[in-house]
Amino acid sequence: MAYKFIDNYREQGARKRLVEILEKKGIDDKQILKAIGKVPRHFFFDETFWNQAYKDIAFPIGEEQTISQPYTVAYQTQLLHIKKGDKVLEIGTGSGYQACILMELGADVYTIERQEKLYQRTIQVLPYMGYKPKFFLGDGSRGIKEHAPYDKIIVTAGAPTVPDELLKQLKIGGILVIPVGDEDKQKMVTVLKTAENDYEKHVLDTFRFVPLVGDKAW
Ligand code: SAM
Repeated sequence: MAYKFIDNYREQGARKRLVEILEKKGIDDKQILKAIGKVPRHFFFDETFWNQAYKDIAFPIGEEQTISQPYTVAYQTQLLHIKKGDKVLEIGTGSGYQACILMELGADVYTIERQEKLYQRTIQVLPYMGYKPKFFLGDGSRGIKEHAPYDKIIVTAGAPTVPDELLKQLKIGGILVIPVGDEDKQKMVTVLKTAENDYEKHVLDTFRFVPLVGDKAW
């Protein structure tokens, strides 16, 4: 893919319209809408497909993976209730777009991807755009124990169950957001860790993610 980093009026206008669409769909967190209005999503697309970058759709990024639909990114981010300085683990870096949105909100992001080509691309593209999360290559279904505990954990691929390891790596008061279901569709699940072995779980709307593949997943 040939990337080009130019943000002109056409893309800026399209980004503004995307924010309006998300607002209409119920995203009401102003900081998240501001972040979506700021991060140039077309930078994650080959120039040939820039006309797709601000549609509210998921889009292929290679390796049979996708950049998530903006609504889904905003929805999952809202559930995390990010506060400035939160230590956030993202499982499934993919394009790196979600990580940029989290960093715009002031999160300290640890992001892991299992596909080497995608990992290699993000370690170049994100710092070039000015975003510097901590990047990891490997199976995130086990979390990243060495850097635990985390204030928040977001999984951006569909899991068969909530991996225990991820719950263990949450701080007390921490939140995990993870799509759980079969390979076809998943329910968004949030888990609040209320005490060392106590959790409050909520099952929310239905989504369709690529599968979380790994030791504690598919
Ligand atoms: N957050 C991404 C973005 O903003 O573009 C979208 C991610 S895409 C829907 C899901 C990603 O999860 C894919 O890149 C896939 O390779 C990755 N993935 C799947 N299983 C994984 C695992 N066990 N560990 C790390 N990454 C995984």
